[in-house]
Amino acid sequence: MKVKGLALPLFALALTCTCGCGGGGFYKYDTLAYFNAPCRWAFVPAEQGGEKAVWQEVTALFSDIQTEVSLGVPASSISRFNAAKAGETVEIGAIAYDILTEAQALYTETEGAYNPAAGLYVDLWGFSPRVLNGEGEMRPYDRDKASVPDEEYLSAFMPLLDFSALSLFEEEGRYYAKKPEIVALVDGTEYTMELDLGGIAKGYACDKAAKIIRNAGYDLGFLNVGQSSMRVFAGEKGGDWEIEVNSPRAEISAGRFLSVKGKHVGVSTSGDYENYFTAEGRRYCHIIDPFTGYPANASPSGDGSGVVAASLFGVPATAGDALTTAVLVKGEEWAKAFLKTRYPEAKAVFTVWDGATGEYSVATDLKSGEYTLYAEIPVRAF
Ligand code: AMP
Ligand code: MG
Repeated sequence: MKVKGLALPLFALALTCTCGCGGGGFYKYDTLAYFNAPCRWAFVPAEQGGEKAVWQEVTALFSDIQTEVSLGVPASSISRFNAAKAGETVEIGAIAYDILTEAQALYTETEGAYNPAAGLYVDLWGFSPRVLNGEGEMRPYDRDKASVPDEEYLSAFMPLLDFSALSLFEEEGRYYAKKPEIVALVDGTEYTMELDLGGIAKGYACDKAAKIIRNAGYDLGFLNVGQSSMRVFAGEKGGDWEIEVNSPRAEISAGRFLSVKGKHVGVSTSGDYENYFTAEGRRYCHIIDPFTGYPANASPSGDGSGVVAASLFGVPATAGDALTTAVLVKGEEWAKAFLKTRYPEAKAVFTVWDGATGEYSVATDLKSGEYTLYAEIPVRAF
């Protein structure tokens, strides 16, 4: 279907792109079939009908990723791993193996803040597909409505967060993951390590699909995977796109929050607004802080201060996906120091809430003139 006019319609969440160079010329493929979120490829046709085959290859890749890692697919590699006993070796698919290998590196790099072994906590807090979609078997800690779990679970599950205890290996072209021997026992029920690749799978899909698109010769347009991971190619006539990030809070700006001009750049975003509940005035979001077992910025010892949304420009999508998740856990100071050494060329925008004053602010290393902020809140340059 052809995109009409200047603006590509805004999705409800996170990231989008509008043409900042006069509009027209771009076509798009959209799908809602993967990752529970909209995916879009915008392109300028390169050869007669060629883009259809490219989109078929991209969606076949998305389908393979989903089939291998989704927790909503009982036969996926990750679901089977989660259902396995402690110490068991589970044969997994090549894609799951590849993502887990990247996840191991990102776990180390983020000092454990990006931790795919947080699966049991995601479920305990009510953010897994099992709870959200009411699928699968009940568990002893299930509750009538979203609320803070019992302390005994929060502390008992801590040893299951040791992602470094997971071993991956390849034998004769087949791939395996060995579940750590660690068991947590609560009220007579045994729990073992459970994985959740929700913090990285869309980024991985974005990197792999962008490669398919570029290899096929398309270098105008963009690829948006689930609105949290984008690879932006060039705009019309090789110009820039206007990359828009949606607002993390309606009270600071409704709809769009920030826009940046750019091309040939990876963009990733994460926030506490995608999926959360509130209880007794506190916000509990879907990103788990593996150091406390509570959602990011929600541990009872804190006042809720922290990064509520993080966007990165210029980091490959797989790393960007995991890193934006990690920034919500580790906070602004860690993120600034980390980016400076590891991704000195990347640009970042963090929206920070101060629990003591109740104020929001933005921290960014984008220079004034490089971006437009649509919220009237203080900006701190770094
Ligand atoms: P994102 O939207 O990319 O920030 O990813 C959030 C998703 O990643 C959550 O919905 C969980 O499925 C999973 N997750 C939650 N906390 C973590 C964490 N600390 N490390 C890795 N994945 C996490
Ligand atoms: Mg992420």
